[in-house]
This record gives sequence, structure tokens and C-alpha cells, in this order.
Amino acid sequence: MLKRLAKHRRTIQAVIAFLVVILLWMHWITLAEVLLFGSLSGIVAGKVFCRWACPMGFIIESMLGTDPRGRQQQLYMYYKMGCPIAWVSGLLNRLSLFTLKNDVSKCTSCGACDKMCYIATFDKDRSHFRPAAKAPGNAYSCSRCLECVRVCPTKSLTVGLRLPGGRRAEKKEGAPTSDELG
Ligand code: SF4
Ligand code: SF4
Repeated sequence: MLKRLAKHRRTIQAVIAFLVVILLWMHWITLAEVLLFGSLSGIVAGKVFCRWACPMGFIIESMLGTDPRGRQQQLYMYYKMGCPIAWVSGLLNRLSLFTLKNDVSKCTSCGACDKMCYIATFDKDRSHFRPAAKAPGNAYSCSRCLECVRVCPTKSLTVGLRLPGGRRAEKKEGAPTSDELG
């Protein structure tokens, strides 16, 4: 289900972004309400608005190319300061109710997730699977694109409730509980 969602993220983003524009144009919602909703969505899922619902995000991502490994797109996503929605929801990545989780008992350390993630690409202190590395999903820049989840062959990476204590029980000998780090 998550993998399928991630695969169709651009289509979902296009539909929601189009609806947002129409609702704004019809004056059924205000820009302030969009800013408020987008920011507060960070409490539930972190910086999810930018890559799943934002009209500007859709346009910019289209201009930079749709391949998540594209250098320009990666640079933009990693360094962008964005708008107030990005500032607030990005800060909430560390606290959001739902977060990225790695069940390290299933992880084979293949590295496919890090290759698709612009955070792991640019910040060598962050990795989904490397021991002692901090979790990319907790970083301010994580836009919940779910590319890491999409490419994980073992379904080790997923999205789940952020639980106090995390998944220490699933820790393999010598491996990190990556959902706890960062
Ligand atoms: S893609 Fe999945 S199995 Fe491979 S290193 Fe990442 S979490 Fe582990
Ligand atoms: S969702 Fe995964 S691939 Fe996307 S930015 Fe966050 S950690 Fe990286």
C-alpha cells in the first residue's frame, strides 16, 4: 500500500494541488487557511505538504525533473528554505505522530534507500541503515517523499506511529534502531 502510494505520489500531488488552486480561486478557502493547514499537518505526518499537496512544489519539481536522483532536484529539496509551511512542518519532523521507521530485523543493508534519499546523499551522518547514523526521516529536510520506502526490497522501511521507546526489541546485534536516532 505504502509503496503504491509512493509510486503514484506525483499524481496524488497533482490532484491535490489542482484542488487547492481551484478552492483558492473560488474563494472557498483562504491562503491563510492553506498555510495553517499545511503547517499543522506536520503534527500528524511531518513535512508532508510540500511533496504531496503543494501547487508550487508540484511546479518546481516538474521543472527540475521527476527523477528523484536528479542532481538539481536533490539539491533543491535538500537546501530549500521553502515557505512557512516548510519551516514549521520541517521542524515537526522530529515530533510528528507518524514517522519513518526501519525494522532492522528485516534490513539487509543493501543501501538502496540511501541512494534514493537526498538527505543521505548530502549528509554523511544520516543513513537509514548504517550503524550509529542518524535517521534521515527526522531531519528538517525530509519531505516524506517515501522514495526510501518505495525502493526497500524487504519492506524494512515503513511509516508508523512514533512510539516512546521505538523498536529497540527489533535491534539486530550491532545495528542501530534507526527510527530512534536523529
Ligand atoms: S533498502 Fe531496506 S533493506 Fe536495503 S538498506 Fe535500506 S532499509 Fe535496509
Ligand atoms: S521520505 Fe525517505 S527518501 Fe524521502 S527525504 Fe525522507 S528519508 Fe529521504
